[in-house]
Parts: sequence; structure tokens; C-alpha cells
Amino acid sequence: MHELVVQGGTVVTPLSVTSADIGIDGGTIRAIGPGLAGERTIDAGGKLVFPGVIDAHTHMALPVAGTRSCDDFHTGTVAAACGGVTTIIDFTVGTQETTIPDEIERRLNEVAEAVVDVALHGEVIGWEPGAEEEFAEAVRRGVTSFKFYTAYEDSGRRTSPAVMKRAFEILADLGAGALVHCEDEGLIRSIADSLAPTELAEMATLAIARPDLCEGAAVTQVGRLAEETGCPTHIVHVSSALGLAAVREARSRGARLTAETCPQYLVLTAESYDRMDGHLFAASPALRTDADQRALWKGLRRQEIDLIATDHCPFTREQKTWRGSFTDLPYGLPGVETLLPLVYSEGVGKGLLHLPDVPRLLSEGPARVYGLYPRKGAIEVGADADLVVFDPDETWEIDPNELHMRTDFSPYEGWTVTGRVTTTLLRGDVIFADGEISAERGRGRFLFREVGVNRV
Ligand SMILES: [Zn+2]
Repeated sequence: MHELVVQGGTVVTPLSVTSADIGIDGGTIRAIGPGLAGERTIDAGGKLVFPGVIDAHTHMALPVAGTRSCDDFHTGTVAAACGGVTTIIDFTVGTQETTIPDEIERRLNEVAEAVVDVALHGEVIGWEPGAEEEFAEAVRRGVTSFKFYTAYEDSGRRTSPAVMKRAFEILADLGAGALVHCEDEGLIRSIADSLAPTELAEMATLAIARPDLCEGAAVTQVGRLAEETGCPTHIVHVSSALGLAAVREARSRGARLTAETCPQYLVLTAESYDRMDGHLFAASPALRTDADQRALWKGLRRQEIDLIATDHCPFTREQKTWRGSFTDLPYGLPGVETLLPLVYSEGVGKGLLHLPDVPRLLSEGPARVYGLYPRKGAIEVGADADLVVFDPDETWEIDPNELHMRTDFSPYEGWTVTGRVTTTLLRGDVIFADGEISAERGRGRFLFREVGVNRV
């Protein structure tokens, strides 16, 4: 007799789709099979059961362009739970003056409000060779992945290739890894210099100002650094066919490169910038073309892309008010709550993905890339009982007023999707069921990660 049994569902893993009960004790999966008995049961008849989704790229309460992304760790993780996300990986907030270990301590105070589990990436800003100990100390505090930018010189976030190479060598020695925002700074600058003021006043110019070439060039360079140093390196938010081709090429040379894309690059294009409210779609990298979308879906099927994450960075309409140029907008889109429904509906529903691709890309993939597998991202005996019961037949319309993210718009407003989360379990506790959130503030835990595990 188990404490809790999820009964009669269709259990979906990257390797199989089978009818089975899941027996849970002490927050852990203890049995998977037919005919399990429990003191309490959750009826999953007619439903799919996925491992809890891991959104490996979120920005809660992020200071940007004089404002802050509008979800904090409480509101953002309530939205996550409603969307079947049981783990997020967010970032420390780097500054030129502070050290990564100090930034971890500061961020943990905010993480304490979360209702789902949270791991952290260390954001690397202003780091210089000589401060090797910062990475070692961060690793001792359970942070094993570090975020670099090849762009954003003006805001001080860019790391030069020479400094990045040194950092990659240290991370490789520690058994840690890097994740990199790839857009070539020099190309962005040269294009920006050639734009007329009238072009800067057009939202649609964003896609021209930061084209796919910027991404492809930067991925190629970072791929070379990864190859040279042996550092496991993850390319975040790959948005273009050119970027993906550069990932493929670096991997074929033996670089330990993994890749991510996001729903916005799979289902939206730069045509959104032509809308009356096109400025709400400002994001970096910019939205691309139909051809890029097709290349990314193909990359997912061919396992050239390891995971889908959201880059959830929500702002309200007010925060995104148009002030005459796309360069004045805070960049970022909300998405943590719509990740699973969109990937299921637009991917599986439209024949672009197979059903087992969903847990591969949303759970096992991120868990393996970031050293959380198999405690997270798996329906296996011994894993945390993080589960999503999902009704594959329910059709509903995305309405930002009914979503739990604190923003008042959604890029997918008015879209009809098929498939909806009915129940979310975190370590064996129901945290969301039938439209109601039941997790108390602070229910989530900080996930301390070890070096040298997983990374595909
Ligand atoms: Zn991001």
C-alpha cells in the first residue's frame, strides 16, 4: 500500500508510452506498474502522465532597462505549477561590483518564495582572469552552470572571447559548464550604425538590426572555444537555421555543445512586429522566418536541439510602452505557463513531434544538460515524484486574464490549443489541481547541483 497512487494514466517517457499506475511514498516514486493500491489515489484515466516539466531558462524579478521583469519567484512559480512546470532554473543577477558567490546568496532570499523547485545559473558579468576562486566557491554552493553573453557591451554584460576561453578552461577543470547567449557584438554594431533614424522608429527593424547572421557567427566562435577547452557549453535560445547549423557543425567536430530553443521561435515569426501591438513582441534574439521555424522543428526531431525552455522574461503592457524606438524597449516574453500546452498542441498536435519527444525535450533533456537527472526529469523508481496529469483532449483558448503570470498580455492571446494540465505534483504533493493552486509560498526548494554529472 503506497501513500499515494496516480492511477490508470498513460505514462509518457522518452522511451515508452504505457498504461501504468505510479506509487509514491515520501515524495518519491516507489513503483510503476499495474494494479497498485494507495491510501489516496488520483484518477488519471484517459489522461497522459508526464514527468514534471523543467523550464531551464527563466528570469524572475530581473532588473532590465530601468525596470524589473514583472513576475517574482512566487507569482512566476505559481504560474509554472499551473503549466505543469515543477522545476525552474533561473539566474543570479551579476554586476560589475559583486562576486558570483555573493550574488547567489542574494538571489537565494528571493528563491525562498518559490512554490516549485529552483536551481540557479551563475550570471558572469565583469569577471576577470585571476578570480578563478569565484567559480570554485559557486560550485561549492550548488551552482554548476554559468551564463555568458557575447553581446550587450553597452550594459557591461559582454565577455570577450579571450576572457571566455580562460573561464571555459576553469569550468572544464571544475566539471562545471557554460551557457551562452550568442549574438555577435561587432556585427550588431555595424548594422546599428548603418540604420537611419526613421528605421529605428519602426518595430519591424528589430529583425533586420539583429539578424540570424549575428547568431550564426557567435555560435561558430563559441563552438570553437568549447571545442578547444573541452568545456560543456549550452547555446541558449537558438532562433535560426544559421544558428542551428553552427551548433551542428561544432558538434560534428567534437565540441561538447548542447542547444536550446524556445516556443516563441517555434511558433511566431517576425511578422508579429508588423502588428499594431508589435512592440510587445520585442525579444532578443529577434523573431525570425517560416524557414527558420521549420529548421528548428526539424532540429528537435533529429535531436540536434536538446531541450525547449522559455526564456520567460515577462513585462506588462505598461512596461513595454512604445517610446519611439525598438531600442528603448525591455526585451523578453512571458511563457512559463504556456510552455507545455504550446509544445504539445503545436508540436504533437500538428504532427511535428512524437509524443515521447515531449518528456525528452521538456524534462529529461534539461535534467541531463544541467546535472539534475534522474532525480528530476524522469518517471523512474527513486526519482522525485514530480508529475503532470495532462488531458490531451481539452481544447481551450489562451487568455492572459486567466493565466497566472503577472503580465497582462500573452504573445499567444486568442490562440486555441488542445491539451491542458489538470494536476501537478511536486515531490508527491498536489500543488495544482482543477484550476486551483494549492502550494503554499516557499514550498519549493533550492536544488543544490553536483559537478561532473549528466551533461548529456
Ligand atoms: Zn534569457
